[in-house]
Order: sequence, then C-alpha cells, then structure tokens
Amino acid sequence: MTFASLGLAEPLVRAVQEQGYDQPTPIQAQAIPAVLSGGDLLAGAQTGTGKTAGFTLPMLHRLAATTPQGQSHHGKRHIRALILTPTRELAAQVEDSVRTYGKYLPLTSMVMFGGVGMQPQIDKLRRGVDILVATPGRLLDHAQQGTLDLRHVEVFVLDEADRMLDMGFIHDIKKVLALLPATKQSLLFSATFSDDIKALADRLLNQPRAIEVARRNATAESIAQLIHPVGRERKRELLAHLIQQGDWRQVLVFTRMKHGANRLSDYLNEHGISAMAIHGNKSQTARTKALSEFKAGSLRVLVATDIAARGIDIDQLPHVVNFELPNVPEDYVHRIGRTGRAGAEGEAISLVCVDEMGFLKDIEKLTKRQIPKALVPGFEPDPNEKPEPIVLGRRMTIGVGAPGRGGNRGGGNRSGGGGGRSSGGGSSSSGRPSSRRR
Ligand code: AMP
Repeated sequence: MTFASLGLAEPLVRAVQEQGYDQPTPIQAQAIPAVLSGGDLLAGAQTGTGKTAGFTLPMLHRLAATTPQGQSHHGKRHIRALILTPTRELAAQVEDSVRTYGKYLPLTSMVMFGGVGMQPQIDKLRRGVDILVATPGRLLDHAQQGTLDLRHVEVFVLDEADRMLDMGFIHDIKKVLALLPATKQSLLFSATFSDDIKALADRLLNQPRAIEVARRNATAESIAQLIHPVGRERKRELLAHLIQQGDWRQVLVFTRMKHGANRLSDYLNEHGISAMAIHGNKSQTARTKALSEFKAGSLRVLVATDIAARGIDIDQLPHVVNFELPNVPEDYVHRIGRTGRAGAEGEAISLVCVDEMGFLKDIEKLTKRQIPKALVPGFEPDPNEKPEPIVLGRRMTIGVGAPGRGGNRGGGNRSGGGGGRSSGGGSSSSGRPSSRRR
C-alpha cells in the first residue's frame, strides 16, 4: 500500500516521501481514508503509531481541496482547522508535522500555548491562520479577550484525549466545544477508552467510524523490557553505572516527581554525565532548549516527569529508563512507547526497589506479560530491606509496595513511615491523583 493509493493529493505524497516514509502505518492506512470521506472518527492509537500523520495528512488534503467557508470580505483567512493537544510539547510537534506535510500546499498554521507572550500570538492570528494547534488554557485566554474566532472551523481534532482528561482539562474542552460551529468534522484520538472518554466521544462525535490499532495497553514487541531490582538508595549510582558501562549516548529517564527529576539531573551532571530535567515548573524556553539539545545529541540524558514527557517525539530513541515505576500502570506503557518507535529497536529498563513491587504487579497485570528481571553485579538489593510508603506530594502517600498490596492502593493506603499523610479523597481507587494541571 502507498500513500498515493489512499487517495492523498500529490503535494502531500511528495512531502511524505521526502520524510522517507514509503508505507503508511496501520493507523494511517485506516484513518486516512476515513477522514478523507468527511465523517467523524474515533481512533484508538497512542504516540509512536504514526497517528499524527494519520490525521494531519487527510485534514490537509480536505482543506486544500475545498474553498474556505465564510472568508471575510477583507480576504483575511479564518481558522479552518483546530487541533487541541494536552501539552505544549505535543502542540509544537503536531504543528511541526502540519508544516512538514503541508509544505507544498498554500495553507498557513500556528501553534499556541501558554508560558510565552500573548502579543506575538495575537499578531499572528491577525495575519490569518488556516490551521491552529493549541493547548486548551491559552486558547481560552484568547477567546476571552476576543482575539480568536473559531466560528469557521471545519475540522476539529482532539489529540490524546485521555491525557487531557487525566490532566483535568474536561471543563476547558467543553468550553472550547461551545466556541465551535455545530457542523464540522470531528476526530478524537485516545490511547485508552475509559467511560469518561466514551462520554466525551458521545457528546462530540456524530456517527463516527471507530478504528483501533495495537490492542489497548499492549506494549510494542520491538521494545525489549528489563527490570533491575536495586536498593532504594542506590538507584542513582546504578543509573550512572549503566549509562557509563553501556556508553549510552541518548537516554530518556522518567521520575515520578518534579524535584526528583531535578535532583537526579544534578547528580548525573556532578558525575560527568550531561543531563537536564524537564517538568511543568520549567519555563517553556528551558524545556524547548533541553529537548532540542537532546535531539541534537549534545545532551546525553533527559530526565522527565510523565506530564512533561507526554507525546515527546524523538525518533528511534534507544534507551528509556524508569528511574521510578509510575503509580499509574498506563503511564508505563506510554513511557516505554518513547523507544522502539515505528519499528525501530529499543530498550526500556526499570530500576525497581522493594517499595514498588505493587506498582510492578499492576503493570504486569495491565500488559499481560511478565517483565524479565536481571540483577546487576554490585547492585543487588539487600533482601532485608523493608518496603516504605511512597510519598507523592506533601499530602499524599501511596501504597506500601509489598507484593499482594498493589491492587488496593487507593482505599487501603497506609500513612506514616515517610512522614506523609494518606490522601483519602485525594486519590482515586486506582491510586491516581484526582486531577493534575499545569
Ligand atoms: P506519532 O505516533 O504521530 O507520534 O509518530 C511516531 C513516529 O513515526 C514519528 O516520529 C513519525 O515521524 C514516524 N512516522 C510516521 N509515519 C510513518 C511512516 N509511515 N513510516 C515510518 N515512520 C513514520
């Protein structure tokens, strides 16, 4: 199968070929014809499947093939397509794809997110934009100020809808929907389908085609997964050892918390390994700088929290390390999806201490596979080390990681030990903090 045979216009096929893609990925093979047909779409696909091109290409095709509706008499362009993403990084990447694939078409695009000045965005909007890629918060700021008109949107894409809900964006999404015209093509992409996502899909989509690639929560076969059991206090040392022994040039490391990311990055730098942390407290400039240095290869280690790393697109990343296992098992699947992308080989290593055995059980249950374990000589954990609760925030303690306790963390939290208090109403039954927003 080729991109041309899916019905895409020549300028798009040419742009795709220039990227070196000769075969559509499974999500593209299904999504492209569905979107070209003009109907609504509910797509189950996570980052790494090629989903961005799956909606960008047919969207560009349709915009280029039809004349804009309601062009103002000044000849100014109206926004014809809106793509909403949960994070700034993802917004920037998606807009990058729009530019890449649309380079031979006379369509304009812009990315809009918070943390940077409003005025340059207002100026750009004034000059006229066909395709807007945005995060919800800043989009609503513009709408409130009257600097944004979404009444002529023809195509609306909600990307990583599950992440948006996890981050507490549901009200913002509803507000955005109210700004859009009733008649439009809507596409909803989500890696998972909770009841909340289904409810959102019911509200947004009109007789959608439903497609799904890679079984929900399945981990890609091309990713080699491994666990190194290690003592709680020796993880940093082990990580530095692995990076140096393996001569890893580019590794993405996940931590659970922002301050943990900072501390780890400092430690690595002190030990001669160039590292930067990215998380929600960092300025946009610092995050963009870290990401571009990492992509360029001048930065060896990027330490990220789940939210900051969401949707980061780095081709063929060879190593992903879970410095700490995530307390939400779906996050494990997302994290390791950063490696072994689009068929390339990748390795995902998790450093697991005795506190995290419950999390590990949950992950293995979700992915329906046992992750192989290997001790690293010199870093074997002390068999007498006792599990301690994991402190997630000033007011939230989660789990006691002993095997057998993993399934009932939310209600059965034990406080104490680490000095934190059990969160009670602050976490859901899955142990997930109730809402996270940056
Ligand atoms: P996404 O799931 O949209 O984040 O895309 C994952 C990665 O796959 C991106 O780095 C794309 O550049 C790459 N990609 C997208 N489409 C293809 C394709 N047809 N063949 C090979 N790689 C692709």
